[in-house]
Amino acid sequence: QQLEWAKLKDSKSLSKDGKQIEIAANIGTPKDLTGVIENGAEGIGLYRTEFLYMDSEDFPTEDEQYEAYKAVLEGVNGQAVVVRTMDIGGDKELPYLQLPEEMNPFLGYRAVRISLAETEMFRTQLRALLRASVHGKLRIMFPMIATVNEFRDAKAILDEEKAKLEAEGTEVSNEIQVGIMIEIPAAAVLAHQFAKEVDFFSIGTNDLIQYTMAADRMNERVSYLYQPYNPAILTLLKHVIDSAHAEGKWVGMCGEMAGDQTAVPLLLGLGLDEFSMSASSVLKTRSLVAKLDSKEMEKLANKAINECATVEEVIALVEEMQELI
Ligand code: PEP
Ligand code: MG
Repeated sequence: QQLEWAKLKDSKSLSKDGKQIEIAANIGTPKDLTGVIENGAEGIGLYRTEFLYMDSEDFPTEDEQYEAYKAVLEGVNGQAVVVRTMDIGGDKELPYLQLPEEMNPFLGYRAVRISLAETEMFRTQLRALLRASVHGKLRIMFPMIATVNEFRDAKAILDEEKAKLEAEGTEVSNEIQVGIMIEIPAAAVLAHQFAKEVDFFSIGTNDLIQYTMAADRMNERVSYLYQPYNPAILTLLKHVIDSAHAEGKWVGMCGEMAGDQTAVPLLLGLGLDEFSMSASSVLKTRSLVAKLDSKEMEKLANKAINECATVEEVIALVEEMQELI
């Protein structure tokens, strides 16, 4: 099996009937690029920049960040890199950033909420990204967006920093796409409005499932509620994907679900454009997709959404299909 997968390293990701998708990788630091190249990922679908902050004794400087972003952009031979602005808070702490104790850190001061309040820190990161943009195909993504205004505010700050850099004579790419993570149910439900303003979505199912099911992703006792194939989740995903496509935008997924072998047939059927996962799952996913007919998967996904009441019913449906391929 490993051998069969290895043959797909330099191939495109095509379904049995020739529908092309992209299979990208998630990374935490530029060091992860080795795995990305070895496994034939088609670019980076999620670069979690908070590790740059967590691995540092103090706020990383603009130049330190610039070097890291440049290394990643140059390291993927012109493929696209989705860089997520820092997602601190929740379970991720910074010793040098004093955050107040909270009852519910996952529902608290986190990610873009911090960026929009501590704007100096945010501007430094954006400047580093903008400067690095000339070294590859950069896509900037904001995490934990709940409202359209948060996106507009973050985008306005980005545009301001771009204008400042240009006024100083620094070159910045004009091809940068700007998107958001869909990981809060309110954003998923309102995807048809967001889709008019963003360049792309990337669905963060780790958080989207936790918030939709009201089940802490770190809490073992409620882990049975962590149900990626629950028809409620699939219905939300369908709305997000259809809304983006109606506005001509692309949709990726960078949560664990994107590399889940039971979920992949459903996601292909829902029309997901980009699947981003740990590098070690790329080849097995490319191999699975090659066995699936996208039209058949569309029927499968619609059946799961329209006829299934429980996650068990959805799993049974997918297993029945898998026996036939
Ligand atoms: C997610 O929420 O699915 C995601 C990719 O972000 P993180 O796991 O870093 O919260
Ligand atoms: Mg998340």
